[in-house]
Amino acid sequence: MLIDNHDRVINYVRLAVTDRCNLRCNYCMPEEGIDFARKDALLSIGELSRLCDVLTGLGVDKIRITGGEPFVRKDLMRLLEHLAGISSLREISITTNATLIGPHIEQLERLGIHSVNVSMDAIRPETFARITRRDHFHVVYENLMRLLDSKMEVRVNFIVLEGQNEDDIYPMMEFQKTHAVRVRFLEEMPFNGGSRDFRTLRWNHHKILEHIRLRYPDFEKLPAPITSTSVNYQISGHKGSFGIIPSFSRTFCGSCNRLRVTATGDLITCLYGKPVASLFTPLRAGLEDSFIKEAIVRAVGSRSRDGFEAQQKHGPVFGSSMTSIGG
Ligand code: SAM
Ligand code: SF4
Repeated sequence: MLIDNHDRVINYVRLAVTDRCNLRCNYCMPEEGIDFARKDALLSIGELSRLCDVLTGLGVDKIRITGGEPFVRKDLMRLLEHLAGISSLREISITTNATLIGPHIEQLERLGIHSVNVSMDAIRPETFARITRRDHFHVVYENLMRLLDSKMEVRVNFIVLEGQNEDDIYPMMEFQKTHAVRVRFLEEMPFNGGSRDFRTLRWNHHKILEHIRLRYPDFEKLPAPITSTSVNYQISGHKGSFGIIPSFSRTFCGSCNRLRVTATGDLITCLYGKPVASLFTPLRAGLEDSFIKEAIVRAVGSRSRDGFEAQQKHGPVFGSSMTSIGG
């Protein structure tokens, strides 16, 4: 079992499989994109599979596939097939913009993928196009409806963006009223590849909740595991539910159970810190598992207590983009 230097069990890994994406969400990267990694600098499916074997051997039982847009990677299903065969893996989940997932939905269901988080920061096509700088709303909506019909658990991630999608908050609440989906409203973070810097946030978690309360005054807090990043609520009579993730305020750091691995094999032990180890070389060189394990155990043994400490220790991290980090 992986236990960090603050006695927290680490059992969850967010694995980015690419830094490329077919959208250009303006809170994530500049219009022209970022300096994407060369194809041969990305971990191959064989290397990713081996890394997952090592991680699960260390006690990781939940892996989330992210990116970039994971489905931009044509060989992604091979990795998911491998993961589905790891018996100690309790949960395989995916975070996606849902533009390219359509042809794979049935196979994902067959493989037993537990949940799919769809990032959709608008419920109106015009708002969606302005934020993502692409005109793909209808395919995303259609795929979301198909996912809702599947056995997989579906959540929608909606970042509240000042001056951009506030008018979509109530329509999104109406969506969870009539569909069995949890909509999670997120605070924006300044990881956007340098397109915009900010130190304070108008739409913090308090303001988001108060805004929702104005229209929907009666809701109940739902129980959640201690490691949950979202605080979740249910409105009586609504099919779905909603949650708020204080990703900028970082109220959840104390119980953090996760690691991140970028598509180029960098190990990140806190979202607000810099990579602490590179797993690329040992994986590419085919070194023994013990080298990879040792690097992971060492990194886990010197984690920051929270995102504020990591930020202080590592210096400016906000020049980077979520498409490299994986969210
Ligand atoms: N392309 C996929 C998607 O959009 O779901 C997966 C990668 S994306 C980087 C992962 C998550 O990071 C998404 O839910 C996205 O909304 C979130 N994200 C990206 N930039 C962010 C930012 N500046 N602040 C908060 N969340 C962000
Ligand atoms: Fe692409 Fe996801 Fe970033 Fe949007 S948030 S640009 S979909 S990686």
